[in-house]
Amino acid sequence: MKTFETRSALTAWVNQQKSDGKSIGFVPTMGALHQGHLALVKKARNDNDHVVCSIFVNPIQFNTPEDLQKYPRTLTADLEMLAGIGCDAVFCPDEKEMYPTEETKVYDFGHLDKVMEGRYRQGHFNGVAIVVKKLFDTVLPDRAYFGQKDYQQLQIINALVKKENLAVEIVPCPTIREADGLAMSSRNTRLTPEQRREAANIFKALKNVNNLYPKTSISEIKKQTVSQIDASKHLEVEYFEIVDADTLLPIEKQTGNEKAVACIAVHAGQVRLIDNVLINS
Ligand code: AMP
Repeated sequence: MKTFETRSALTAWVNQQKSDGKSIGFVPTMGALHQGHLALVKKARNDNDHVVCSIFVNPIQFNTPEDLQKYPRTLTADLEMLAGIGCDAVFCPDEKEMYPTEETKVYDFGHLDKVMEGRYRQGHFNGVAIVVKKLFDTVLPDRAYFGQKDYQQLQIINALVKKENLAVEIVPCPTIREADGLAMSSRNTRLTPEQRREAANIFKALKNVNNLYPKTSISEIKKQTVSQIDASKHLEVEYFEIVDADTLLPIEKQTGNEKAVACIAVHAGQVRLIDNVLINS
């Protein structure tokens, strides 16, 4: 497995592969890899001749210096895992390589980046879009793989590709969960044992949404879901929304056939967890 620290060296390698007619699958990550990330890499490996993975903790998508500082970093273990599953190249740039000058670009994604995560994490998706665009410009992938765990991010990336007219296919991948249902996340390692136990209640409550929908009204589903999670001593719901799976606009009429997604953010002590379930998909 090759590792690259500069954009120019990686692009040169990619161009060489492309001139040999090889396709490139790309998995952008912030490291602290788990089976959720590896599922993306495996899918990319199946679909493409070569897989490139990036590991970069992107400072401009964090909302507080503390969250950035506490983000887990496990580069040696990450590289071992990637080599073990047949990743071809890893891009591990430092901050200066990605941001030699201050970033001023401001994207307008309409309401897509104003709701849910965008409402509670101002500027977060602008930081995500900037780094993903730079990574795409560097890796020149044929396909890029994103987890549905970060559902709103996936829709932002789809909007970015449309807006910038990029020649990359975005491949959504299902959320990988722990045995008790908790969505895998690099942030889970920061949970205390008690918070970790209770965190399984998030998916339990979300699964129940599919039982309640569409017979129960959205306001009643919201009430039940929030109180079910808030009943856990260490969990506190920040938001819970049921929105159209494509537009992320609130569902106005529950016909029972609409493609919807129920999205949630929950605080477990200092750790913020997000999850979602698809309805009718
Ligand atoms: P991150 O390192 O958290 O920025 O995530 C990198 C990619 O992995 C993103 O596309 C995430 O949506 C995806 N991802 C993270 N956790 C999971 C999971 N549990 N299942 C599937 N994909 C995931």
